[in-house]
Formats: sequence, C-alpha cells, structure tokens
Amino acid sequence: MSEPRPDIQTNVDSPGATDSNRSCIIGIDLGTTNSLVAVADDHGPRILNDAGGHAIVPSVVRFPEGSAGEPIIGREARAHLVEFPAETVYSVKRLMGKSVTDVTGDLEYLGYQVVQGEHDTARVRIGDRIISPQEVSALILQKLREVAENALGHQVREAVITVPAYFDDAQRQATRDAGRIAGLEVKRIVNEPTAAALAYGLGHGSKQETIAVYDLGGGTFDISILQIIPHEAAEDSTDDSAQLDSFFQVVSTSGDTHLGGDDVDRMIVELVEREIREEFGMELTFPPSTRQALRQFSEATKIRLSEFDQAEIQVDLGEERVYQRVLLRDEFEGMIRSWVDRSLACCTRALRDAGMKPDQIDRVVMVGGSTRIPLVRQMLGTYFDAEPYTALDPDKVVALGAAVQGSILAGSHTNALLLDVIPLSLGIETMGGAVAKLVMRNSMVPCQAKEMFSTSVDGQTSIKIHILQGEREMVADCRSLGEFHLRGIPPMPAGIPKLEVTFHIDANGILNVSAVEMRSGKRAAIQIVPNHGLARDEVDQMELESYKFAREDMKLHRVVDLRVNAALDIKWISERMGKLGNAIDDDYRAALQQHLDTLTDFIEQSEDDPQSVDADAFLKAKQSLDEASVRLHEISIAQSLRDERATSAQDSTDESG
Ligand code: AMP
Repeated sequence: MSEPRPDIQTNVDSPGATDSNRSCIIGIDLGTTNSLVAVADDHGPRILNDAGGHAIVPSVVRFPEGSAGEPIIGREARAHLVEFPAETVYSVKRLMGKSVTDVTGDLEYLGYQVVQGEHDTARVRIGDRIISPQEVSALILQKLREVAENALGHQVREAVITVPAYFDDAQRQATRDAGRIAGLEVKRIVNEPTAAALAYGLGHGSKQETIAVYDLGGGTFDISILQIIPHEAAEDSTDDSAQLDSFFQVVSTSGDTHLGGDDVDRMIVELVEREIREEFGMELTFPPSTRQALRQFSEATKIRLSEFDQAEIQVDLGEERVYQRVLLRDEFEGMIRSWVDRSLACCTRALRDAGMKPDQIDRVVMVGGSTRIPLVRQMLGTYFDAEPYTALDPDKVVALGAAVQGSILAGSHTNALLLDVIPLSLGIETMGGAVAKLVMRNSMVPCQAKEMFSTSVDGQTSIKIHILQGEREMVADCRSLGEFHLRGIPPMPAGIPKLEVTFHIDANGILNVSAVEMRSGKRAAIQIVPNHGLARDEVDQMELESYKFAREDMKLHRVVDLRVNAALDIKWISERMGKLGNAIDDDYRAALQQHLDTLTDFIEQSEDDPQSVDADAFLKAKQSLDEASVRLHEISIAQSLRDERATSAQDSTDESG
C-alpha cells in the first residue's frame, strides 16, 4: 500500500531507522484536553516522555498572528491560552467530523472562532486562515510522533489512535485523516474503553466477560459497556495480529459532556466564598485573578482529600482578615455524593440500553483523573458489586492500551507475560529491610493470602505497607511494586496493633493488597498489576539470582529478624529494670545487665556486618536473656498487684475520710 503524501512534513532526523524499527507501532490517546503517546515491547506498555520528562502533551495549538508564524503546540500553547484566546485552539476534538450546527452547544465554551467550511463542516478561523480540525489534530499528532521518535531514537511511521466509543464514522474518518496529515499510517482506530481494557490485559482469556469502563475526567464523563467475545480460534491462529479489538464489542455507551472534576472544584470554591461572606459580612466580588487562584487551590484541596482524611483551607483576605477552616473528608463526601450519583444515573442508562443489571458486570475499569476520589471508587464498587480496576494510572491507561494494540498489530506481542501462575513471589517489607512473602512464585491465579503483622515502635499512628516482588530475602534485592499508608491508628505500644494484610490476585492477575488494623478498624488498600513492565528474561534472571544468593539471603533475613526482636526485648527489659528500681536485687540486676550487654554486642555487629554474625550464637544469646528475664516478669506482676492494692486502700481511706 502506498503512503499518501503527507501535507505537513516533520523535521525529525531519524538516524537509527531500520526495518525492525519500522515495525514499531505507537499508541496514541488523542484527548480533548491532553494527549499521550505510548509503546509496548517485551517489558509491556510504557508511556513515552518528552525531553523535559513530561508525559502529557496538552491538546492545544496556537497559531501566532500572521499566517507565516509556526504553530506552537502543547505545553507552551496552553501556558499562554489566556493571553491569546482568539489564536489558541483547544478542545478541537469536539469539532472533529462535525458540522457547525452539530457543535452549536459547544461554541460558548470555545474562545476561538468556528466557521462553516466545505460540505457544512466545522472549521477554525484564525485571522485570515481557515483551518480544519483535522489539521489542528495533525499538529498534535505530529508533536506526539516527535516525542516518540526522540524517546525511541528511531523513526515512527505507524500508529494506533483511540477515539471515544460513541464517535461516528465521520468522526473516526476525521481522526484517520489527521493521522495521515501528520505523516502517520493509522493502523487502527480503537475505542478508548477497549484500549483501557487492553491495558489491563483483558480479552486474552477464553471467558466471556462483560466490562464497564467508567471514564470520569475533568470536564466529561463516559460509561461504556463492553463484551469480550471469547477468542475461540486463538490457539489455532498463527496470526497474532487477528483483530483483537473486534473481540471487544461495545454493547452500549452513555455519559455527560459536562460532568467532571471541574464541578467538584467549583463546589469547594462556592463553599469558601459563602463562608467568607458569612464570617466577614463582606459583599465580596472576587477579581478574576483571585477566582482563578481560588479554583486552583480548591483543586489542590480536592486532590489532598483523595489521600488524607482532612485538608486545611486558608485564604488571606488582607487587612488581617484570614479565612481558615479544615475540610474533613466526611464533609467533602457529603458535598459530592449527588455529583457521583449523576454519573451512576448514566451507568443505569447504559445498562438499561444493554439490557443488563449492574451485577452482570464482571469487571469495572477506571479511567480519568477524577476516579482517584475514594468516594467515586467506593460508590462504583457498591453499584456494580465489584472491586474497580485502579492499578494503572487512570490518565495513562488509554494510551497504554493503544500501545498494546499497536504491538499486537506489529506481531511483537508474543513475548509479553500472559500467565496463569505468579512468576515471582509477592510480599511486604518488614522491620529491618527484610521481605515477608505472602504469595509464593508459581501459585495459580486467582489466589489469596493473609498474614498478621504488628508494629515495633511505640505510639505508631501510621504504618507503611511496601509491596515487593522477587525471590530474594531483602528489600534491596527485590522489585518494588508500590506502597501505601494505613493512617489514623490510635497510639499503642509496640507489638499491640494487630495488622492483617491480605493479598488477593484475581483471574486477570491484578493484585489487591489491603491492610486492616483490627483493634481500630482502620483500613487501606492498593491495587497493582504485578507483571507490568516485567519481561520474561527478567523473571529468569531474578529466579537465577535467588538460587545463587539463597544461603546468604536466608542468613541475612534470619539475622535481621533476630536483631529486630532482640531490640524489642532489650527495650522492654531495660524499661522494667528502671521502673522496678529496688524491687530487684543487685545480683539479679547485674546478671540481667550482662545478658543485655551480650545481646547489644550482637545487634551492633549485625548492623555493621550482618554476614559476619554467628546467627546460632545470636539466637542463643537472645534465648538466654528471655530465660533470665522470666523472674523479672514475675517481680513486675507482683509489683503491679502491690501498687493496685495500695491504690484501692488509699481510695477507701479517702472515701471513709
Ligand atoms: P483527566 O481529564 O482525566 O485528566 O482528569 C482531570 C481531572 O482529574 C481534574 O478535575 C483533576 O482535578 C482530577 N484529579 C486528578 N488527580 C486527582 C486526585 N488525586 N484526586 C481527585 N481528583 C483528581
């Protein structure tokens, strides 16, 4: 097939282009607000960043005054949007393949001029120039292509581009045309929800599954119901590029083009403005700059509340007037509940159109930044009675999936890890930098494991759960998969909190880690795709190393555990000896001190050079201290009883007095 000549040439010099390079097909999420580019190789899909390390290219193009000026694309164009509203084009996706009549409703949101072009198509007018939405999108695509070529070090000619599931033929064709103008051969146009499902590795199995893809961004909301049609011929087929996306059938879609995180920001702004007026009795009219600052600040408050139970709001109004308050997550959730309900009403419509009930949905995939709000996750989980998939970055999941589709089409997907077993053990970090494994390698999926842990520091109110993958015994030699904090635990002495950690791996290999502190009921969780970014040869390498270092590793783990437990013993015994004072005779005190000193020497040696420690001797020293301290426990209990009797005797004297 011959390439149509591109209307706009890219200037990228690509010295490293080879035949194999040319078979690389990039994945592009061409979004209304932001766009991203990704690629998938043996390590799975990954986002490609620009030279400044930015993944996101804002879908904004500025056409500077006078037709000769070079268009400015992305970050820089967005930064000056307010200064140059008439020559900066954004949200052009809303115009793709549309007539002016189609987009009348959107015009009030656009700062630039939209005019009628050939065949009643919507065009952008900048000064004397009439530009088609395809040309604007082509510039964004060209920028993404440039990002990809620079990141990969070779030329890129082919791409998969995503579009919303509800895009009609004209909108899809316009997107293809944009790609062609950008000098890209568009190998396939893929639905955004399908891409999100592909990023999670869905669609590979032989089961028929129904998936809901819930996409809640800044300004728009989309819900799509997809059906995965089992890939019957998969085993016979030698053609891996068989149209995987055709196994995903879009059953129904619904949404709201004006529902998103921006609404929540506005709710916080309104709350603050109302309370300022109530408190200071001011007839406040905030200037635009203050309003803008207030909006940004409200967004930051919202984002903070996704992680913490509360966020502080402070606005300096000048003349020593300061508005200040704490917004608790509970109160925030009360404010946004009906906003989440609006999205659920769209889900109900989509389900009704599909002729389904919520409990017929097998998987829920989350897309869009606003799905980071815990209440959104919780209400959606309850609605569908399924734990939503949140492991992948909701802003990147569509581009990642487009890259997966690209690699399938390029025939380079065969090395990806598609597994029915866990290739490497999974566990968490424990005190001293050791790893406690909960799920052993080669466990079949789905599977579940639970273990109890506690703290080793007094009064700890937050516990970090660090999840690791690998066969080695120490954190430093394993692969870190992620971490989260269990916060708000009431202060308790070391060893008293009862922390239950559960690993659950579902049939698609997605890991859910949850932690509950049983005494306080505090709970937190994280979701992870353990095999993300892991290549087959890396698994082999990690396995090999585990054999090679097995003996040393086991010893190190044992010494570290001994050190942690010995330190706890020493702390407890020293405190008791201090408290009991004269209740302990000198000989016994001296004997105990000797045991303590011996054990402290072991601890110090284990910190300096753990491999040099004689672990058996260390254990013996610890056991000797344990045995010697039995009498101390008895003295301690006797003393407590005496103290208690003395207190009650005092109380009865006080009462009778
Ligand atoms: P998107 O259009 O998918 O990029 O989503 C952008 C929206 O997600 C904006 O309204 C952001 O404020 C919101 N957002 C991003 N991160 C978070 C977060 N951690 N918690 C709540 N909202 C967030």
